[in-house]
Amino acid sequence: MSILYCTMRSAQTQTATQEKVKPQVKVSPHGTQSKALEKASKDYEAVIGIETHVQLNTLTKAFCSCPYNYGSPPNTSVCPICMGLPGALPVLNLKVIESAVKVGLALNCKLSLNSKFDRKQYFYPDLPKGYQISQFDVPIATSGYIDLDLPLEFGGGHRKFGITRVHMEEDAGKLLHSEGGSYSQESTFLFVLTINIVDLNRAGVPLLEIVSEPDMRNGIEAAEYAASYRGWFGIWE
Ligand SMILES: [Zn+2]
Repeated sequence: MSILYCTMRSAQTQTATQEKVKPQVKVSPHGTQSKALEKASKDYEAVIGIETHVQLNTLTKAFCSCPYNYGSPPNTSVCPICMGLPGALPVLNLKVIESAVKVGLALNCKLSLNSKFDRKQYFYPDLPKGYQISQFDVPIATSGYIDLDLPLEFGGGHRKFGITRVHMEEDAGKLLHSEGGSYSQESTFLFVLTINIVDLNRAGVPLLEIVSEPDMRNGIEAAEYAASYRGWFGIWE
């Protein structure tokens, strides 16, 4: 975001015989802009917390035995459970618990030996059940932290960022929108046909949500925090 200050000289009263004077625009020099930014940075403090959604690479989905292969044709990895059909019984995939525990330990969290799932109610076409299975008041892991060292090119230094919670949940499906139009010279009308397709291949795919404390104070810290998750354990890709 940048701030540009302009000043405009007011147009003076003119007679018909006078040459028209165009209003002049003066752009203040770069230094003024820098000073304004400097002042703003003194008056405000960035407070950043990050919510990270991690898709697990388990062989099957969180609550059914459907495989999930990214990019496979729409609605080819679905069953009554992940389509949310009435009477279906979700059964938790043990690998999701294992991954959540590993991540919780890696983030120095306290593990909840008794945990539970909750229903997050919302209506949207990509969620056929009308609710997402998630965790609310008793997540699998809480109160952790992550240690990292900033690269020297960014000033170096050690940082410790708190982790509020890690919880398990399922992903929703995906909506695909396509739009086509046709123009008729006779009627001079433009017909636009919008096609919405619901793909439920991703519905029920296991996710971990990692919520940090608002401990970061600038973009570099936030970027390094996010980068630190890459490549852990091979749990996710
Ligand atoms: Zn399924």
